Amino acid sequence: LNRQFSYQALHGTNQDDGLPRTVESLRAIEINRLLGPKFESSNSAGESNSSDEGKKEPVDVIIDLHSTTSNMGVTLIVTEGDPLMTQAAAYVMQKCPPEDRVRCVMHTHPNRNVRPNLSSIAPHGFTIEVGPVPQGVLRHEAVEKTQRALHALLEFLDRRISAPAELQADLKKWYASKNGQVPCFRSITALREGEMSGKITWPSASDNPNFPAYMVHKRLQDRDFELIKIGDPVFVDLEGNTIKYDGSHGSPVYLMFVNEGGYYFKSSGTGMAVAVRANFDLETGELVQEDDREDEL
Ligand SMILES: [Zn+2]
Repeated sequence: LNRQFSYQALHGTNQDDGLPRTVESLRAIEINRLLGPKFESSNSAGESNSSDEGKKEPVDVIIDLHSTTSNMGVTLIVTEGDPLMTQAAAYVMQKCPPEDRVRCVMHTHPNRNVRPNLSSIAPHGFTIEVGPVPQGVLRHEAVEKTQRALHALLEFLDRRISAPAELQADLKKWYASKNGQVPCFRSITALREGEMSGKITWPSASDNPNFPAYMVHKRLQDRDFELIKIGDPVFVDLEGNTIKYDGSHGSPVYLMFVNEGGYYFKSSGTGMAVAVRANFDLETGELVQEDDREDEL
């Protein structure tokens, strides 16, 4: 993540490197002011912030629209235990056409304060990740997929206000055959501090932290949401030697954000994300069981 919404990033307490703030870190502070603030207490903690603008209400829901260079289809990213957003994901998965390949990824975090992403500013956060899209490129069909998911999500929120009983009846009906459980991928808990979730990382060049020393192996390219197990090739070094998966995040596991261009830089979280199959309860948004069947969702 190059734009961080952690307490440290928003309050300048990790600026011990003596470097000036980046554009992204300044933008994070602006967005937090516009939509939040995320950390309520910080304003009343005696900071000499003499802003006399009228106090704005923080927003309830943030929908964060992303593109990724990875072959992720349409991936809805929500947090465990937020039934508003997890039901929204269940709704969007039913409303979008199958060819959009809509999947749900659930992060498990004790609370939003420990999530450093943009949508953590609001009590309810939802990220729509669409790929593959090269950086800096607008692709018509990717924009349309994003629109379909976004419109379904807005329809869900609208129906939740205008006709909540009917909405709940529809959701129950759609997931009745699955006993009210919604299939998803659960991201593996981060092994390294400061990360959203567990990642298989690659080293950087010794003389440049922003230049990867390994390439993602061709066998993995474009194979997001496919299983890998111990011994499968994951990287190739610059001499052409294959680096195999060592099982550090369990085995077998699913990979996400395979060869994401934004993660080449050490400061933005180098690596591929790891997940397992799971189900969440339609009513509570809590995970109910893990499920590593190999059949397609
Ligand atoms: Zn993203």
